[in-house]
This record gives sequence, C-alpha cells and structure tokens, in this order.
Amino acid sequence: MRTSTDPNTEPGTHSGTDSGPLRPLRTATILAVGSELTVGETRDTNSGDLARSLSSRGVDVQRIVALPDRLAAVVQALSDALAAVDLVVTTGGLGPTPDDLTREAIAAAVAQVPAVDPDLETWLRHLFERRGLPFFGTNVKQAWLIPSAAPIPNDRGTAPGWYVERPDGRLIVALPGPPGEMRPMWEGWVLPRLTARGVGQERVTRTYRLAGIGESAVAALLGEELLRAENPTVATYARSDAVDIRISAHAERGRSPQELVDGAVDAVMATVGDHVWGRDDDTWPTVIGVHMATRGWTAALVEEGTGGSTIRLLGDAAWLASSRLLGPGDAEAPIAVLAEQARQVSGAHVGLAVRATRPGDDTQVEIAISGPWGARETRQTAFLGGSEGRRRAGLAAAAFLERYMREAPPELGGPSR
Ligand code: ATP
Repeated sequence: MRTSTDPNTEPGTHSGTDSGPLRPLRTATILAVGSELTVGETRDTNSGDLARSLSSRGVDVQRIVALPDRLAAVVQALSDALAAVDLVVTTGGLGPTPDDLTREAIAAAVAQVPAVDPDLETWLRHLFERRGLPFFGTNVKQAWLIPSAAPIPNDRGTAPGWYVERPDGRLIVALPGPPGEMRPMWEGWVLPRLTARGVGQERVTRTYRLAGIGESAVAALLGEELLRAENPTVATYARSDAVDIRISAHAERGRSPQELVDGAVDAVMATVGDHVWGRDDDTWPTVIGVHMATRGWTAALVEEGTGGSTIRLLGDAAWLASSRLLGPGDAEAPIAVLAEQARQVSGAHVGLAVRATRPGDDTQVEIAISGPWGARETRQTAFLGGSEGRRRAGLAAAAFLERYMREAPPELGGPSR
C-alpha cells in the first residue's frame, strides 16, 4: 500500500499539506448533514456529542448546523465555516448513494477534485468480499479522496472519514452519520491527533448551585452586562435540584482564566451569594453530609404529600438514618410534632418533616426541623401544583435542612444523643 493513502497513515505525511506551524484549534463549527435531520425523522445526537467533547477541551463551538442533502447548501455551509473557525467537523453523507454528498461538497469547498484512491478501493473491495456482499459501482465513491485528505479508518462500516488539512492550518474532519461508527472514529482516531496537535485552550470553569430563587430572578439580578459578556461567560441553568450559575473563562490580554473567573465570582456572590448552597459537583446529600459528618449527627425524614421528592433529592445518604413517606392527609399532627416524632422513633439527632398540600394552583409546603439546635419551622408557597410543585417542596426541605446545619453553632457538634 502506498503510505499516502493507507487508512492508518498519519495525517500530515500525505501530499497537499503545508508544513508551517500548526494553527491552534480554538474555534469549531459542527455540520450535521442529512435530510432526515432537517425533516425531523432523525434526531441529531452526533452534534451534541461532538460539541460536548470539544467544549470540554476548551474549544469554542460557535455553531451547530443541520443541513439537507443538497450540494449547494453543504458547500455554502462549509465555505462559511472555513472562513470563520479553525475546525469544521461534519457527520453524515459519506454513504455510497447519490444523495450522500459530503465528499463532493468538501472537494468543491476546497477546490480539489476527488478521485478513486486505489488503496482505499482495494480495502473496500476486500471488506465487501469478506462480508459476502456484491460490490456495486456506486460503492467506489467511498474510496474517493482529494489530495489534501487523509482517510480516517472506519472499523464498523464501509465509509472511511476524511481528515483534511488546509494550507492555512484549518482542519475539516468528516465522519459518517451512524453514531456507532462516528463515536469510535472520533475518540479513537481523531481526538488523539487533535490532542497531539494542540486543541482548545486552558479554560477555568466554576459552577455555583443556588436554591430558594428562580432562574429568571437570578438572571434579572445578575443583569445583562454580566450574562452577555463573552469572556468570562456567565450562564444560568435551571436544573432539577438547583439553579446553577456557570462561570467560565479563557486567558485574554495578559489576564489568566482564573483571574477572569475570580472577577465574575465576586460580582455573582455579591448579588446572589445568599442563595448559594454548593459548588461544581456538589449535591444536596454531599453538602448536608459534610455538616452532618463534622458534628457526628444523623437525620430522620418524614414527608407527606410530596410523592417522595425529598428522599429523591437526599438519596441514600449515609447520614440519613430513616425516611418515611406518608400519603396526602395521612398524618393529622402539626408538622413540628412530626419532626420531633421522626427524631424520637429513629434515634437520629435531627428530625426533618415536610408536608405538601395543594389548596389552589400552587403547593403549600410546611417544613419543620427538630434537633440539637432547637426546633425550626417554615411555611412556604411552591410555585405550581402536581409533580412540579412536589419537586419544589422537596427542594425547599433540603434547603431548609442545609441552612439549619450550616448555621448551627459549632459547639453543638458531637454525637450528643
Ligand atoms: P453510512 O454510509 O455508514 O450509512 P453516512 O455518513 O452516509 O454513513 P447517513 O446516511 O447520513 O450516514 O446516516 C446514516 C444513519 O446514521 C442515519 O439514518 C441515522 O440513523 C444516523 N445519523 C446520521 N446523522 C446523524 C446525527 N447527526 N445524529 C444521530 N444519528 C445520525
């Protein structure tokens, strides 16, 4: 086999590449090719997978575009992307049929003529022989290359990908559509090469987890200037267990990513710091667990009418000695009595009781805690009814317990029961 077209050839060894310094790959566009995507028959999972992979390496994915199997549309999208970003990744359209036109489109966008590569054709014919399949003339298209393309081996299908280096150091990576082929080619072949070549840039990211405030209120308090800034970026996300604020930055004009993140952190904490209960990968069980562990305490939970939303948030944390779910209206006793009973019956240090009722459109939540730092009680309205109201009731209970634990004086520590 000629080294120039061996599917295992290292890119850069084939003809057509410039041997100047490699352009850093900091920005990317992802193009998902296939009319089945634009008519809504197939969901584009490839782009999300690739975007996550690139973003986690500090690449700024500037655009994800789904395109129909129309040559002009794909050529235009490729040309636009090549004018804007360092790396263009395409998926789909590498099959043997006339509507698989990603190869033609790339060839047109870089003004090169595709030709059947004899070595790839031999490899492809062997593949069909081994599988006992007839080799039609149309299949030969999958053995096409352009001078600046290195083939990306596909161990699970008949469509090799293309790794195309442009003279200005930009890169096009074309992968087949089936995720079962695309993913291993991306992870096993493309990523190691991108990494060796230098991809992305150092990025520092910090997430703050908030409770007791909605996403829109967080956004309003943070303000447009902060939320629209490009570096650092500050974004809000409504998750099931928190509203998250994610702050992320890369180095710019002599300032390190950490410095830039720290600046935004100060602004965020000054505005909504009161609502922060965790950072990064923190969850309710881990955050409350730290307070429980330092004091050597355990807790018992009883919830009524919540559908178990509190226990779902707290999970099977080691500090949770017992949990009990009652149906709506099962317990007549006041909420404070339920909390004290939970603590007595289980022998835990802290009793937490939650009751959700729905007298109108919204959910009324009663929460009580009984423990070494005395009894606390609150009554809140959770927005909406149904499962959404129940979810918010559980969140309110977790937040109430976390605050009790955080604010309890340290001298109350020690397993005093
Ligand atoms: P092959 O010749 O191996 O099928 P191909 O590159 O021609 O590869 P397509 O014909 O575009 O791929 O798509 C094949 C199948 O892959 C689609 O029917 C669909 O199931 C899946 N697919 C394509 N694009 C995507 C995508 N963006 N996300 C998820 N699945 C996809």
